Amino acid sequence: MESTQIRKNQRMSPKKKILIVEDEPSLVFTLKDTLENEGYIVEIVEDGNTAVEKVTEFQPDLMLLDIMLPGMSGFEVCKQVREMKFNFPIIMLTARDQEIDKVTGLNIGADDYITKPFGVKELLARIQARLRRTNTYNKPGPIDNIQLGEVHVNLKQSKVVRPDKEIELTTREVELIRFLVANANEPVSRDSLLENVWRYEYSTNTRTVDVHVSKLRSKIEMQPDDPKFLVTLHGVGYMMKIS
Ligand code: CA
Repeated sequence: MESTQIRKNQRMSPKKKILIVEDEPSLVFTLKDTLENEGYIVEIVEDGNTAVEKVTEFQPDLMLLDIMLPGMSGFEVCKQVREMKFNFPIIMLTARDQEIDKVTGLNIGADDYITKPFGVKELLARIQARLRRTNTYNKPGPIDNIQLGEVHVNLKQSKVVRPDKEIELTTREVELIRFLVANANEPVSRDSLLENVWRYEYSTNTRTVDVHVSKLRSKIEMQPDDPKFLVTLHGVGYMMKIS
């Protein structure tokens, strides 16, 4: 009982995840150290191509993105991440205090920029401001009722009400929907589902995820073979499409 309660509380205010994309070792070291001390979960990648892959797997709450990177530039990374429909805040790190960089960055979907060298306090303030804004506007507490076309999902009662029948949802299915809906209209990888819904339980793998998604689809989709809401993104994972 007690452990369930603790897990529940942790889920209500989970640690925020920050992805740092930066190739300067000394700066990476300082950033990681500082952010982890502040209680953030930090992942680091050092080039643009890996950054794009990492985003799907890690599902960050915020990204610090250097512009001058080996391979793909920070601008290109930003553009691709937005094209993939991720909408977490992106703060660009630029070595040059050039107006053109700022304008380009903001035009392609970055939320803020900070010029190197910057003070740790200033960076933390910017990060907190961005995360606060995301919380206020994009994440309005747990959702209990979801309408998917003709299908109504009541997560509190673990129930699906459809024109043809009513179906019970398992606890796992409820958690799966909650996580997909919390990340609605964004790609979610199988690894991310394993981490966040199954929490790496013994003997689970990506096949487990596929089986559960398929079962869930048969409950919430009127035509599971041609899903309208819980769609597969080939080579990426899944996405809950909600307009
Ligand atoms: Ca760089």
